[in-house]
Amino acid sequence: MDTPTPRLEIRDLVRRFDGRAVVDHVSLTIAPGNVTCLLGPSGCGKSTTLRMIAGVEMQDEGTIHVDGNLVCDTVFRIPPERRNIGLMFQDFALFPHLSVGDNVAFGLKGDRAAKRKRAGALLERVGLSHFIDEFPHQLSGGEQQRVALARALAPQPRIMLMDEPFSGLDNRLRDGIRDETLALLKEEGASVLLVTHEPEEAMRMADEIALMRDGQIVQRGAPYNIYNAPADKAAVAFFSDVN
Ligand code: ADP
Ligand code: MG
Repeated sequence: MDTPTPRLEIRDLVRRFDGRAVVDHVSLTIAPGNVTCLLGPSGCGKSTTLRMIAGVEMQDEGTIHVDGNLVCDTVFRIPPERRNIGLMFQDFALFPHLSVGDNVAFGLKGDRAAKRKRAGALLERVGLSHFIDEFPHQLSGGEQQRVALARALAPQPRIMLMDEPFSGLDNRLRDGIRDETLALLKEEGASVLLVTHEPEEAMRMADEIALMRDGQIVQRGAPYNIYNAPADKAAVAFFSDVN
């Protein structure tokens, strides 16, 4: 059987700062509907990788394809807003001057009624439809996070890029929001690249983990395979705080 065209394929991405490769020939594919976690310690190059895929930072080498189409190489570049990629970052705040409904509808095309309908359906799905005409400051941190997820998913992006999206939340809420987020991403059929430095988060959310260290992917596989058979001593140490 043919393997399906990857939703996202990055090949040999390199990014140098002051002559040092902080992303050093990173290659990765994500199958449609899959959640891949880019997992590694702080400073290993995760965010830089994500920013290149989003198109807000340019790579020095390598290519990015979405659904088999070239999005970016070192000479050709589709701008971020035309990549059909959703973004969710820890500090990616809601627009304070827009209502919750208008925040979710922000990136949508079409008439106002249609946009409000889509926004309403997503807010309903995350249990927040009663807040549609409220403003972000009236919501708790966890609620704002769910609105941000609804906003990112509203235009039905081909790929969702999430950079430590749960690290600002308090521990009590985090597991619940992780599970809800995962369920919604799956329902919407999103292909996801989630960046985290927490093994536990990757174990909980990933279909596949790509373990990153010093700018390189050192191991790739299903969560339990990586957990049970880490590639080397550094990987064992990194996973040792998961239980
Ligand atoms: P992570 O997200 O895994 O914590 P980053 O991708 O943010 O790592 O950073 C990887 C490395 O690249 C770090 O050493 C960081 O200091 C460096 N770096 C990131 N952005 C820049 C920049 N604009 N200029 C210089 N160095 C940078
Ligand atoms: Mg980072």
